[in-house]
Parts: sequence; C-alpha cells; structure tokens
Amino acid sequence: MPDSLQLLYITDDDRHIQAVQIPWKLWRKIEPLARPVLDPFMKPDFEEPVEPLSAFEEFLHYWDFRYPYSPAVSCPHCGAATQNWRDDLTHPFRLANANLGGLLVFHCRACGATIRQKHFRDHMAVEHTAPKT
Ligand SMILES: [Zn+2]
Repeated sequence: MPDSLQLLYITDDDRHIQAVQIPWKLWRKIEPLARPVLDPFMKPDFEEPVEPLSAFEEFLHYWDFRYPYSPAVSCPHCGAATQNWRDDLTHPFRLANANLGGLLVFHCRACGATIRQKHFRDHMAVEHTAPKT
C-alpha cells in the first residue's frame, strides 16, 4: 500500500494560507522541477561578505603578545557579547578584518556597530563606532 502523502497548509489567524509543507518523499520528486521557478526567489538580497578567516589564522599564528588570545567579543553599543565569536552558534559578531599588527575588526550583527580590538604588547583595547543611522 503506498504511503499517503499529504500537503499541510499553514494558515495565519485569518485562515489565509501562508505556507505549504510538502512531505519529503514528494518534495524529492518535485524539487528538480521546482528549482528553476524557486531559485530567483531564494537568492539573498545581498551576499554577506566572507569572513577573512585565513587572515585571522595568520593573526593567531604570529601572536607573540604577553597574554593568551581571548576569543570573547562584546559590543559596547548594544551589549551583545560572546565568549567565543567563532564557536558561538548564534554568531553575534562577524569578523570584518584581521591584521598581523594586532587589529581585529568585528561587526555586531545585533546593532551594526563596528568593534575594533587593538591588541598591544600587554593589553587589549576595544574601540567601537556606533552604527550608521
Ligand atoms: Zn551591538
């Protein structure tokens, strides 16, 4: 007996259909047909720039300051914070720039502020620029 496949219509409070859930088995058959129609809608409005992770690896590789590198980042503007910007699943900060001189630049995804971590020989200083309004 074939599995019965049902479409599930998801409606808002006014019973207007907002979305359709298609069983996986069915979607696998439909997807190749639907792709050409869907693709133009699936593209994000803008591509988020790729984080310069290789520059960051280099930054770590040449780390010779008197204290261990701390992956914690916090936003002085909105208070967003993470203990480890790379491991944090919510990824509240995007690395925008890293250079061997000890500068890391992050963008706060919550408020759009730019955060600069300046690493000096024996301390790290944080500067930030408020988001453009
Ligand atoms: Zn922020």
